[in-house]
Amino acid sequence: MDTEVVVESASLISHLECPECGTIHSAHEINTVCANPDCKSALYAKYHLPTGLSKSILNGRPATMWRYKEFLPVIDETNIVTLGEGFTPIIPIGNFKKHASGNEVFWKDESGNPTGSFKARGISAAVSKAKELGLTKLAIPTAGNAGGALAAYAARAGMHAIVYMPRQTPQVFKDECRLYGAELVEIDGSISDCGRLVNEHALLHGWFQVSTLKEPYRLEGKKTMGYEIAEQFDWQLPDVILYPTGGGTGLIGIWKAFDELEQLGWIDSKRPKMVAVQSESCDGIVQAFLAGESTSNFVDGGFTIANGLRVPKPYADKLILRVLRESEGTALNISDAEMNAGVNEVARNEGMLIAPEGAALWQAFKKLKAGNWIKPGERVLLINTGNGYKYLENIEIEG
Ligand SMILES: *Cc1c(COP(=O)(O)O)cnc(C)c1O
Ligand SMILES: [Zn+2]
Repeated sequence: MDTEVVVESASLISHLECPECGTIHSAHEINTVCANPDCKSALYAKYHLPTGLSKSILNGRPATMWRYKEFLPVIDETNIVTLGEGFTPIIPIGNFKKHASGNEVFWKDESGNPTGSFKARGISAAVSKAKELGLTKLAIPTAGNAGGALAAYAARAGMHAIVYMPRQTPQVFKDECRLYGAELVEIDGSISDCGRLVNEHALLHGWFQVSTLKEPYRLEGKKTMGYEIAEQFDWQLPDVILYPTGGGTGLIGIWKAFDELEQLGWIDSKRPKMVAVQSESCDGIVQAFLAGESTSNFVDGGFTIANGLRVPKPYADKLILRVLRESEGTALNISDAEMNAGVNEVARNEGMLIAPEGAALWQAFKKLKAGNWIKPGERVLLINTGNGYKYLENIEIEG
């Protein structure tokens, strides 16, 4: 008996394009970075974005990031690997209002995502597309959260995950990988060392690498934060967005989403100022931004409690810096002591146990407001990227 396979193609994806040299790549084939050997930039997925498409297509869709499936890369919907990621809440600040007179400040709280961080978004998109392309063995260098997310989504997809993680990462990040059935490799060093080794070993064993921005679709998953911010703020973007920047996928992704939304005619051309917040020990983007450079230097001051921010040289540093400049944003660093204090302060006053990466944003907000960089009347969004429960081993309880 013949069975007909009906492919429901919701995606409007057209191709992959290099933002640096313009080289076009197929969205139906396996791709990593730009194939131009002099370029090797991260690639952007491009979509046929029709004008006149009504926002009402979103009505009644599930409260996950896949409600934006037209603008995500998976062509056959049956390949979507989802655990309910995305459409996370926007929560106005509570008792912190006393520190924010004249500003409306909101959290976008990513801590409820599967595996406790916004990495679930990028990994859901990457694993789904990998499934569509017939890949089965996925390897990743990680500072912690991306490894756990890959382990979970690979388990769900029936794939094999190989995770390279710095030995100094808190135990819970390692345990979750093993629980989800991934192969865990602990490395004495930073995510950069993990990246180098994954690269060598992946070539040797034929694994596909899902490293930040060396794989085109994690960016697509993370960009859904931008779609959600627009939709949840009723298509009137906030004035300032603070983002804890490691590899920069979310920052670049949110910016890409706003471009796509403007092309669709769903938002106007007004954009938020984008702020990159980094750890004092690993602040190459901050240094490059302040020096007016277009690329960053390798900066690794070693351990930080915000392990998601220990990325000594982001692969897409150029793209991150471009977003900061185009948006008339800024960049600043926060120390581990300030992050620790921030985690305590937010827990006690806001009832939210956020990641140190998120706590860095609260500290950055106070500094930018005190310095009058954030102006009275501006609406500010802080993205709490992860769940603080995973970091407790390194958090000192104050008071
Ligand atoms: C990975 C991570 C970051 C950094 O995200 P990028 O998009 O790679 O810059 C920030 N916070 C947490 C909790 C993370 O896991
Ligand atoms: Zn290129």
